[in-house]
Amino acid sequence: MATQRILDFLATRRPNGPCLVVDLDVVRDNFRAFEKALPDSKIYYAVKANPAPEILRLLASMGSSFDTASVAEIEMAMDAGAPAERISFGNTIKKERDIQRAYELGIRLFAVDCVEEVEKIARVAPGARVFCRVLTDGEGAEWPLSRKFGCVPAMAVDVLRRAKALGLDAYGVSFHVGSQQCDLTAWDRALGDARRVFATLAEEGIVLRMVNMGGGFPTRYLKDVPAAQAYGQAIFEALSKHFGNQIPETIIEPGRGMVGNAGVIKSEVVLISKKADNDNVRWVYLDIGKFGGLAETMDEAIRYPIVTAHDGGEVAPCVLAGPTCDSADVMYEKTPYPLPLSLTIGDEVLIEGTGAYTTTYASVAFNGFEPLRAYVI
Ligand SMILES: *Cc1c(COP(=O)(O)O)cnc(C)c1O
Repeated sequence: MATQRILDFLATRRPNGPCLVVDLDVVRDNFRAFEKALPDSKIYYAVKANPAPEILRLLASMGSSFDTASVAEIEMAMDAGAPAERISFGNTIKKERDIQRAYELGIRLFAVDCVEEVEKIARVAPGARVFCRVLTDGEGAEWPLSRKFGCVPAMAVDVLRRAKALGLDAYGVSFHVGSQQCDLTAWDRALGDARRVFATLAEEGIVLRMVNMGGGFPTRYLKDVPAAQAYGQAIFEALSKHFGNQIPETIIEPGRGMVGNAGVIKSEVVLISKKADNDNVRWVYLDIGKFGGLAETMDEAIRYPIVTAHDGGEVAPCVLAGPTCDSADVMYEKTPYPLPLSLTIGDEVLIEGTGAYTTTYASVAFNGFEPLRAYVI
C-alpha cells in the first residue's frame, strides 16, 4: 500500500520517470510480525526479493539472517553488516568455484538437491552443513516454483547419506511451498515429507537437526491474504503434528512477505488507444512493463493493485501494456484490467505491492529504457 511517507515523498520529490519507492517502516513491521508469528524460527531474508542496501542494513541490524543465491548476494549481505554465520548459500545450483569462494568468506550453510552438488561441496567446503531440498507440488501458490528445485524425499535420504559419508554435516531438509502461497495447509504436506526423511535417516544413526521451511508468505495484491500470525499458527500446528515433542530447529526464508507491501511503483500513462472504432476494450500503455520490472505479470500470474486519481468513477476493461517494442510486453490481456473511463494520457498511476521482485527483474537498457530506479525511505 502507498503509505503516507511514500505519498509525501512522491509529492515533494516529484521523481521523473517510473520508480519504486520503498518504505522501511513497513519492512521493519513485517520483520517483527514474522518474529512474533514464528518465535522459534530463524528468519533468513531471501535477498533476491529486493537487495537494496538500505533494506539489507535494516534487517541485518534487527538480527535477521540472509538466504543468498550467489557470491554477489553473499557480499551484499556482508556489506550490510551480516556476519557469515547468518548467511546461507541457498541456491541448489552453484559453480564449484563459487562454493569455494563462499567458504573462504566464512559461509558454512549450503543447499543441495542432488548427490552431484554434495560432491562439489565436499571438495571445496569441507565439513560444511548441508540441507537437502525436497520437491513440493506448489499447489495453492500463485507463483509456483515447480520442479526446478528439489528432489523426491526418497532421494533426499540418499543425498544426505552421501553428504555424511563425505564428511559433511548432514544438517536438515528444506522446501519451498511456492511463492505467494495462500493455502495454509501447504506447509503441513511438506513437513510430513521432511519428517519422513528425518525418520529414515535416524534409523541409520544420521540425526538431522533442521527444517528450512522456505518462503511463500504472501503480499496482499487484489485479494486479502491471511496474516503472518495465521501462517505461524498453521506451521506450528503442522510441526507439532509431524515432529511431536521433538521439533527441530527451523528456518523461514520470507522474500515477498518481507518487502512486497513496502513498495509502490509510480508510473505514467503514455498512451490510451483502441485497435478499432468498435472495440470496447481500450489499450492502456504505461511507462513500465514486463521488461521494466513487472516480470511477475508473466502469464498474468501476479495482478497488482493499480491506484489512479480517478478511482471511484466508472470503470471499463483495459488491456494493460508496457512501453517497449516487444509484443510480449503486455501485462494483462486475457483478463483485462478495469480502469477508470476518465483515465487520460499523462496521468500518474501507483502500482501497489511492488516492493518484491521488481527492481532486480528490470532489463538493463532494452529499447534504451533505464533499469527501474528505486528510492528507499
Ligand atoms: C525465492 C526464494 C525464497 C523467497 O520466496 P518468497 O516466496 O518470496 O517468500 C525463499 N527461499 C528460497 C530458496 C528461494 O529461492
